Amino acid sequence: MVFATGNSGKLREASEILGKGFELVTPAQMGILEDIPETGNTLRANSQQKADYIWQHCHYDCFADDTGLEVDALGGAPGVHTARYAGDGKDFDRNMDKLLDELARKEMEASLMSSMGIAPKKNLRKARFRSVVTLILNGERHFFNGILEGRIARSKSGRGGFGYDPVFIADEYPDVTLAEVTEDQKNSISHRGKALRAMADFLNSGEGTAEIREDA
Ligand code: IMP
Repeated sequence: MVFATGNSGKLREASEILGKGFELVTPAQMGILEDIPETGNTLRANSQQKADYIWQHCHYDCFADDTGLEVDALGGAPGVHTARYAGDGKDFDRNMDKLLDELARKEMEASLMSSMGIAPKKNLRKARFRSVVTLILNGERHFFNGILEGRIARSKSGRGGFGYDPVFIADEYPDVTLAEVTEDQKNSISHRGKALRAMADFLNSGEGTAEIREDA
C-alpha cells in the first residue's frame, strides 16, 4: 500500500501498527515526487484529497492522514491550519510561539474579566489533536478518526517528537509534554496511532469499523 507521507517517523509508526502482512511504500517510491496538494477546509477533505491524488496517479491501495490541533479557548484553532499557523514556512518553533502568545493573551483577558466579576475563571488550555485517515481500498474510500485529549503547556519542554509536541500535555501523561515521553509511549496514545489502529483492525478483520464509505 502507498502511505501518502514523506515523514519517516510516520512511516515507521504505520508499519509497526499494520504489522508484517502489509508492505508500505511512499509516494516518492511510486514516482510521485511533487508536493501533494492539501487545499481542503477540513481535516477530512485534506486527507481525502491526498489519498485521491495517490489513487488517481497509480491505482494502488493507499492511505493518507491529516492532523489538526484544536484549542478550545481559540475556538478550535489552529485546526486545519495547524501546519501553517504562523505562516507558510511550516516552522514548528514559530507555530508554537504564536500559540503560546495567543493563549497568554486570552488568559490575561480572562483574568481581567474575572477580577472585574464579569466572567468566572475557566481552564483555557484544554486542547486535542485530531487525525483523520482516508483509506482507498479497491477503489473505495474508508475514513478513520483518532483523538488525543490534553492541554497546552505554559512553555516548551522536551526534545523528542515533532510539531507541537513540546507544548502539548496529554491527559495520559499529565506531568510531561509529548516531547518528553518515549516514541512507544506516544504511539500507544496518539491521535494518529488510534486512527491507524482503527484502519488496521478494519484491514485485518475485513469488518466495517470505517465511519463512512463512498465510491472513490
Ligand atoms: P499532518 O497532517 O500530519 O501533516 O499534521 C499537520 C501538522 O500538525 C504538523 O505540521 C504538525 O505541526 C502537527 N502535528 C501533527 N501530528 C502531530 C503530533 O503527533 N505531535 C505534534 N504535532 C503534530
